Amino acid sequence: MRDLDVLVVGAGPAGSVAAWEAKHASPELDVLLIERDRAVGAPVRCAEGVGDAGLREFADPGGAPWVARKITQVIFIAPDDTEVRVAQRDVGWILDRTRFDAYLAALAVAEGVDLQVGVEATGMQRGPGGRWHVRLRGAGAEETVGARVVIGADGVEAMVGRWAGLDTRVPARDMESCAQYLVQGIDVDPDAIYIQWGDRVAPGGYAWVFPKGVGVANVGLGLVALKSDGRNARQYLNEWIARRYPRAARTGYTVGGVIVHTTIRKTYADGVLLAGDAAHMINPLSGGGIVNAMKAGRLAGCTAAAAIRERDTSERRLASYHSTWMKLLGDDHLKYYRIKQALEALSDDFFNGLARTVNKIPQEKRTLGRIFAHALVKHPQLIPVAARFFL
Ligand SMILES: Cc1cc2nc3c(=O)[nH]c(=O)nc-3n(C[C@H](O)[C@H](O)[C@H](O)COP(=O)(O)OP(=O)(O)OC[C@H]3O[C@@H](n4cnc5c(N)ncnc54)[C@H](O)[C@@H]3O)c2cc1C
Repeated sequence: MRDLDVLVVGAGPAGSVAAWEAKHASPELDVLLIERDRAVGAPVRCAEGVGDAGLREFADPGGAPWVARKITQVIFIAPDDTEVRVAQRDVGWILDRTRFDAYLAALAVAEGVDLQVGVEATGMQRGPGGRWHVRLRGAGAEETVGARVVIGADGVEAMVGRWAGLDTRVPARDMESCAQYLVQGIDVDPDAIYIQWGDRVAPGGYAWVFPKGVGVANVGLGLVALKSDGRNARQYLNEWIARRYPRAARTGYTVGGVIVHTTIRKTYADGVLLAGDAAHMINPLSGGGIVNAMKAGRLAGCTAAAAIRERDTSERRLASYHSTWMKLLGDDHLKYYRIKQALEALSDDFFNGLARTVNKIPQEKRTLGRIFAHALVKHPQLIPVAARFFL
């Protein structure tokens, strides 16, 4: 049986960064990164948008082949189609995730990580000496490997967490079902992302247009099934595209789930750490999880390497991972979650009125902070929403 120091399950952004970080911190460690799919980064189940500052912590987007588009503007669309353009600045990037995920995995390999694609973890149990014995299936063969630390970076399915006895359940109201087309031939500002919400558009979520080039964009939406009128995400999306972009050619389609919850209560167990979507580390307001996954992966890889160096991979030793994560982003996500809950109580009419109020601010001054301050004055109903941030 192969005896590993660190086994990382899942080569998404969390897993590749975790593997890289563990190997970088302790080059003598034997680190294996496995990916169930036949290719890292494919199929893409993502709108591929990231903020500038978060991305730059990990990679320089300037001229990178894994960037599809630079974004300088955000356009919010109220339920009644009123558009609100937010001031122009360096907002972020639309990635080419197939290339980006492969780029991160290649960095890990260059650091000395063993990457195996088309290999799936199918179960694990504790073995002698406190190691995990993990069953792997791939390339027609089955094998069991031993690992001192298993990093579960296996996305929304989070099987590693379940096998380790961690509670990774998601309340139905916090699970968004998403559908997305790659569309061609639409007339949108290629430097802007568009976001529209509203009960008839995407109940409990929002619809998006994330341009990948001139006339080409990821167009999708996420909704909470409990709040829908019985139709699924694809049916809502078809209606939205037909209304807004009737001439669009839908050349690609994907579905996926986004967990708009808070970080799970416990992200660690004896010899186990969970990172990224597997631990619900997504921003519950925006549904963005790529940068969070990388930040969590960095922390998980670093913690695993340090614990192995200290010859203590017990739950007690690994608990610092959770507390550090909560200080880094987890506590903020709890605040965003409360805001999300409070916003859910506001009606479409309220948002239509808010959009018109905000449009009275000159565009060059229309930053998110100013919009919110202005909105608070004009729409006192928002004050309890803001208050929830501090509760
Ligand atoms: C429709 C949609 C749009 C989105 N848009 C955005 C966006 O614009 N911006 C943003 O920041 N976030 C977005 N997200 C969220 C983002 O995709 C995730 O938060 C991010 O990919 C999380 O990274 P991760 O590494 O934790 O998990 P993932 O990227 O899901 O990677 C997990 C990997 O583990 C593999 N795996 C699973 N189980 C096993 C197993 N048993 N054995 C081996 N491998 C396994 C999977 O194949 C997968 O490759 C979107 C999500 C969806 C569904």
